[in-house]
Amino acid sequence: MLAVINQGDDYLKFAKKPTSKINRIRTWALALIFIAMIVMYLGVVLFYYTKSQLLFSLFLLLGTLAFILSFVVYFWIGMLSTRAVTVLCPNCNQYTKMLGRADICARCNEPLTLDPTLAGKTFDQDYNNKRKSKKLEQESEAE
Ligand SMILES: [Zn+2]
Repeated sequence: MLAVINQGDDYLKFAKKPTSKINRIRTWALALIFIAMIVMYLGVVLFYYTKSQLLFSLFLLLGTLAFILSFVVYFWIGMLSTRAVTVLCPNCNQYTKMLGRADICARCNEPLTLDPTLAGKTFDQDYNNKRKSKKLEQESEAE
């Protein structure tokens, strides 16, 4: 049921390591909190120099929106986690949660799939997108 798919050469070419979906969304939520703080801080700095109340409230509003968005994202992660499948990673022998047809082990970054038709294929995030995955599969059949 559980299979390892090849990582592909792209992963070596670009230093950017693929991480599991849940980890990536979590990084986004954290980044949003920092963005919110920076935006609010900028608002204060701008208010100090321009004394513009309008600008200040605008930045404060933007910062608050970013905070709310980050909470929404955290809530979304919680919802996703309930739908995630817990699997035993064949590479590091630890349990990890995966989302969709293809995901990456959160502990050792090994690409995993629950779909036997994807076994042995190069890992691609597009396998989780219905439209893109169809295109990918047609391409691999043509080869
Ligand atoms: Zn692993």
